[in-house]
This record gives sequence, structure tokens and C-alpha cells, in this order.
Amino acid sequence: MSRIVVKVGTSTLAHPGGGMNIRHVENLVKVLCDLKNAGNEIILVSSGAIGMGVGKLGLSARPDDMPGKQAAAAVGQCELMYTYDRLFGEYNHTVAQILLTGDDLDRDDRRLNFENTLFRLLEYGAIPVLNENDTMATAEISVGDNDTLGARVAVYGKADLLIVLSDIDGLLTDDPHKNPDAKVIPLVAEIDDSIRKLGGASHGRQGTGGMATKIHAAEIAVNNGIDMVILNGAKPQLMYDVLEGKQAGTRFAGKRT
Ligand code: GLU
Repeated sequence: MSRIVVKVGTSTLAHPGGGMNIRHVENLVKVLCDLKNAGNEIILVSSGAIGMGVGKLGLSARPDDMPGKQAAAAVGQCELMYTYDRLFGEYNHTVAQILLTGDDLDRDDRRLNFENTLFRLLEYGAIPVLNENDTMATAEISVGDNDTLGARVAVYGKADLLIVLSDIDGLLTDDPHKNPDAKVIPLVAEIDDSIRKLGGASHGRQGTGGMATKIHAAEIAVNNGIDMVILNGAKPQLMYDVLEGKQAGTRFAGKRT
């Protein structure tokens, strides 16, 4: 049985127009509940607050300014947790909201409070759902993107595995928009400059992350001995394959000491 951090982004949770992608969200929750029923511990790092707030407020576009993003996130975070509470509740699972900034993780006293809460929630059998605390997360103190937040949560939460859900099938050999023959790299044993270069090759549409932040997250995870797998969030059932040791997406192998 494993402790798994799953990071999901706006590109999986919402349609390009901003409305919630109900099929994706429902399928994701169903697989996570099943993995939990099988005895695994699940920690979900979920974006989508700004995107859902934009939809709920009926704004024509994602705001560019900080107060606009913060206000949208404040609205969307409610929508997000309401949705998770309802859907996880259908399978008798209980969710808990944790909102963090980079500062909370950098400062030992704050991080200890976070860890104590997280571990107790897992002991109680709840599913912690984390996001950046967007109201407080101005540039200087924010984690910045939820791929990195996912990796840091995996490290402090002593996870066995980090799964990052994307809108593509994994880390590709080339930019798929330019090269239709680009293929998924199944295993990255070592993150070197040739891998880092691939980070520039593709960017998600709606969230703050692209492949660059995913590779950065992978470096944090593997340097702390944690495997990270990138999967397509449209196919959450691939998480079963990953846990059964089968090939799916791109696996970054954690360094073993
Ligand atoms: N915290 C932001 C949100 O929930 C997303 C950050 C990210 O996607 O990296 O909308």
C-alpha cells in the first residue's frame, strides 16, 4: 500500500472555455476512491480555483492582475471543494481542504503545523485536498505553480509516489504541435540538460504550469527518492497500471541511496 500524491491541473478539470469538465472530474474521483478503498493513502493537489471562479463569476477571461486572480480563486476554491466534497462523498470518502503558500513550507514552524495536520488527516482516513492559498500568495512568497507544490507536498508528506496529471500523455520527445511523430518517453532515469530542454516543448493552456514546471517538480521528487509519473488526466484509470508496475506515461525514477 502506498501514500500517493496526485496533482491535477486546470487543463484536466475544466474545458477550454472554463466550464467544469464533469467527465474528467468524476472519473478522477472514482479512481482515487477506488485506490483508497484498496488501502492506499491519497493526497490530492488540485488547481482549478481561478478557472472555476472565472466561470462562476461569468468573467469573459482569466484576469491578468493579481487581485483579479485572487478574487477569482476565492470564489472558485469554494466551487472546487464543494464538487470534491460531493463526489468523494458519493463513495463515502471525506475530503479536507489545506491551502498553503511557499512561505508556509519554507518556515519550519509553519511547515510543522502543516505536517501535523496532514498526517493526522491521513490517520483519520480523510483525503487532504491542497492548493496554493491564492489570496496570500503574492509572487515573493508563493510556490508559484502547483506542479512544484505537488512535489514539495510529496516530500514533506513522505509520499511513495507523485502522479502529475497533464493534458498530454507524458514527456514527449518533441513539441507535438510541430512534430506529429513526437513520442512519449517511458522512463527518465536521470534528469539532465537534454531532458530539461524538452520542458520548453509544450505548454498547458489554462493553468500556470507547462512541461517545464513538471520537470522541475520531477527534480524535487527524484532528488528526495520519490518516483514521479506524468499521465494524461483524461485517462485517470492509468493510475491502476502505474500501481501495478505497468508502463504508463512517463516515469521519473527516484534516486535511491
Ligand atoms: N492555484 C491556482 C488555481 O487553483 C493554480 C496554480 C497552478 O495551476 O499551477 O487556479
